Amino acid sequence: MSTEKTLGQITVNMHSSIRIGGDTVIYIDPIGIGAAPHDADLVLITHPHFDHFSPKDIKKVMKDDTVIACPKTAAGLCKLLTGREPVTVRPGQNLSLCDVPVETVAAYNKVKPMHAKFFNWVGYVLTVDGTRVYISGDTDNTPEAAAVQCDIALVPIGGTYTVNPVQAAALVNQIAPKAVIPVHYGLMLGGQDAPGKFRAQLQPGIQADIRPTVYSKVMLRVMPLLIAAVLLLIVAVLQMR
Ligand SMILES: [Zn+2]
Repeated sequence: MSTEKTLGQITVNMHSSIRIGGDTVIYIDPIGIGAAPHDADLVLITHPHFDHFSPKDIKKVMKDDTVIACPKTAAGLCKLLTGREPVTVRPGQNLSLCDVPVETVAAYNKVKPMHAKFFNWVGYVLTVDGTRVYISGDTDNTPEAAAVQCDIALVPIGGTYTVNPVQAAALVNQIAPKAVIPVHYGLMLGGQDAPGKFRAQLQPGIQADIRPTVYSKVMLRVMPLLIAAVLLLIVAVLQMR
């Protein structure tokens, strides 16, 4: 099947909350789900950070026979909060989930600790109607990511927690897919300019499919945590004096 057809079946709800429609409905890292469509055949979770793993939203897309796959570090909470036992995954696997060929690819930061390699978090390469779709998860430009072969790539470009627009373009130029949908950017995460900066660095011949729905303010949710951390630090410093 054509890349164009599969691109038409992919929607990004916000951030990196992705849905692939068609005969098998697949959600990757569903967050911010408005209604409760209960239409997921397969739910894939890349890692257990709040902007990727939301049991509340998984429950909105789940139906009786939905298969959920996630790394081991999310499995306990997933079972507890959704009532569904997930398939646990680790990098480097070849699986068939709901008859969809699924490959797992390591997703990690090379230096920063937020997504350390030892967590064994993943991205996914799915074969949908013969089209290979790579959803990288939160990653840097790693050898594992650069070695992926796919027709469509969905990669983060927001920086801070992942590759920034320039680094993401370098990664995508190495992968050389037919099309790329940049995700994981928004307020406090690359801003409105991120997709333009990303597209400017892409090799000609790679189609940048920029979706206005990706831009979100989800990172505002980390502000209370940051403020609390700073306050705790100030208290600790004052006590040392
Ligand atoms: Zn993350």
